[in-house]
Amino acid sequence: MQFVPRAQWGAAPSKYTLVAVESTRGVKVHYEGTAVPVSLAADHGRCAPRMRALQASHLADPKEDYSDIAYTAVVCPHGWVFEGRGAHRKTGANGNPTLNAGHYAVCAMLGDSGLTEPSAAQLHGLRDAIEWLRAEGGAGPEIQGHRDGYATSCPGGPLYAWVQAGAPRPGDAAPAPQPAPAPAEDVPARYQAVVNGLAYGYGAQGPQVTAVGEALVRAGFGGHYRSGPGPDWTDADTENYADFQRSLGYTGADADGIPGPHSLRELLGTLPGGRTVSLAHVIAAARTDPAAEQGHQTYADEAQVVEQALADEALLGPQWVDGSFGTRTVTAYAAWQRRCGYTGGDADGIPGRSTLERLGAAHQFTVID
Ligand SMILES: [Zn+2]
Ligand SMILES: [Zn+2]
Repeated sequence: MQFVPRAQWGAAPSKYTLVAVESTRGVKVHYEGTAVPVSLAADHGRCAPRMRALQASHLADPKEDYSDIAYTAVVCPHGWVFEGRGAHRKTGANGNPTLNAGHYAVCAMLGDSGLTEPSAAQLHGLRDAIEWLRAEGGAGPEIQGHRDGYATSCPGGPLYAWVQAGAPRPGDAAPAPQPAPAPAEDVPARYQAVVNGLAYGYGAQGPQVTAVGEALVRAGFGGHYRSGPGPDWTDADTENYADFQRSLGYTGADADGIPGPHSLRELLGTLPGGRTVSLAHVIAAARTDPAAEQGHQTYADEAQVVEQALADEALLGPQWVDGSFGTRTVTAYAAWQRRCGYTGGDADGIPGRSTLERLGAAHQFTVID
């Protein structure tokens, strides 16, 4: 699969926290529905900007009040799979909450006029997306059109005929790989990094953002501010921070304007923040609390941070966020390990470094030894 993650196409942050889903019955296939220019098929360089425009139009839709681009993934005419909401996130595209919980939504860049016929590369990409969601997203075997169960012409005649035929791969060989889209030069990096439990980068909010902005101004790197600095991280913060990174000698992706621990410490003299979880402590808690009396707490604060993250992932009932790493927490952590791709004895519910770091990256805590 030729995959373009959100950061690579320059996705804006979600407006609201996306709802987690453990599994779905399968995938519904969509098309854009409006006119798609035929010339798109000749220029893969326009596909990433088209994703940004699609996301912006969904985020600006006053009627739907979408959290994000509605689709799970979008497949361009050249066969690339652009990550939308992604695996294990409820889509907003299928028509109503029940339908959205039932299936993922994969959209082809095709319209009801202009570009209306899927290319062979695009059908391969759609198939790639479906197989990815089965392997990584708990998608079941169903492949349907948006029109199945909802009154719409989507996904259009040609694509619906393909769906009804069982969504086969085209007979010809898989398409020649196209180059990955270059990161957009006109758009500053739009992703967030968590350093010592605090978020930085586009869309991050809080006093730590103001502190960085004020320090940038003091250090002479405030040139991109039209107003502020303030508590909401904007493109101007990213551009000023990139100037600061270049002054440290950083180049390329290291100078994209998103802080890392080293540059932050250089700027601020110290690392703000606090939510840290010791891997050794949570392992000890997971080994001790289940066998102890109900509610026993070995490392209550750190267990609670992990439990809250598991609850936010819809893997643990909120009533069990209690600082006791008991049997239910171990079971929920095992489900998180399976979601990370581990099986058997590797998904035993005792935290390991890589799964804990993944949880921390998604829920803003830092893992220490
Ligand atoms: Zn649709
Ligand atoms: Zn493309």
